[in-house]
Amino acid sequence: MTEKFFIKTFGCQQNVADSERIEQFYRSRGFLPAETLEEADVLILNTCVIRDKAEEKVYGMVRSLTERLGDKTPRIVITGCLIGAAVREPSGKLMKRLMKRLPEAEFLPLEEVGFEHTPVRAKGQMASIVISNGCNNYCAFCIVPFSRGKERSRAFADIVAEVKQAVADGYTEVTLLGQNVNSYGADFLLEKIKEGEEYELPGGQKVQPIMVKHLNRHRIPTLFPYLLEGVALIPGLKKVTFISSNPWDFSDKLIDVMARHKNVDRVLHLPVQSGSDAVLKRMNRWYTRTEYLSLVERIKSRIPDIQLTTDIIVGFPGETRAQFEESVDLVRRVDFAKTFIAWYSPRPGTTATKGLGDDILIEEKQRRFHELDAVAFKGKKSLKMAL
Ligand code: SF4
Repeated sequence: MTEKFFIKTFGCQQNVADSERIEQFYRSRGFLPAETLEEADVLILNTCVIRDKAEEKVYGMVRSLTERLGDKTPRIVITGCLIGAAVREPSGKLMKRLMKRLPEAEFLPLEEVGFEHTPVRAKGQMASIVISNGCNNYCAFCIVPFSRGKERSRAFADIVAEVKQAVADGYTEVTLLGQNVNSYGADFLLEKIKEGEEYELPGGQKVQPIMVKHLNRHRIPTLFPYLLEGVALIPGLKKVTFISSNPWDFSDKLIDVMARHKNVDRVLHLPVQSGSDAVLKRMNRWYTRTEYLSLVERIKSRIPDIQLTTDIIVGFPGETRAQFEESVDLVRRVDFAKTFIAWYSPRPGTTATKGLGDDILIEEKQRRFHELDAVAFKGKKSLKMAL
């Protein structure tokens, strides 16, 4: 008898896009999609571990399902960031917790799904296109480098072909997805450098990494501006959005491409995380408050109708009152269209959890959350984000 599957997706837009490929992965193995969870033989949970609460949601769902369905409970398959992090997280704490709390579950690491499966997309105007997976930045609070591993960019031609196919299928908008889209292609370049070769960008310009002395770190020119231009020029595309960006890799070349192509979305998500240099340094974010504000100025001067959104973490270990007020001040100065505020949540394996402790009391974190929320949404449609 042909087994039926059902996919439940938690977390971010990239997880939604991954679930579209996981759907094809199961169909190509002869499974049929179930209309409801209850009629499924296999329940695939595409998980998120960005916060403690996100992880608990998975365990909570399986517990209530087992209580409700008893021996009719479908087989549970865990995929996405929970298994990704459990496999990579050095202390092994996460894997132990997973095995203890879901002893019956099967595991499907995303790498086994790969990119060769054509996504089964939801009907609509917008198609999500994954351009890379993983991240090499190791921001001190972030579990993504553990949950999704090192950055791997998809081949330029494969991405352009997938966008053209989406347009042919009737989609008029695309969202280019990655944990840090701005560094798209940096891994290709690093590969070449290892081999001692120079790297040639589309258009023939030869590039070498630039050493940023005070950070003792290389700034690597990336392929993202060229990819964005290649996609924006595809006939029939009304809007091209991209998420998520890291200010460190946001080049003037990218600003120029955005300014010249009107179908590139004028809503830009540019996470700053904190307005204090001391906190940014502890977060291992490689830019300063001044550099961020100057980037914002350069973007606004070339693209006057830009609307900026951002992420800010309050209550990061060691954040003093004064440092918090620097974040409040930065939000006032930039006047973001939307500010996604989170209070710091320790995640297993991250450098902050290992080395910085969690010294800001939850009551104080919540006080700062509401204080910044009031400033960020003054006169704007409220967008409180519960965590
Ligand atoms: S750049 Fe983003 S995804 Fe990468 S480690 Fe930092 S916060 Fe996480």
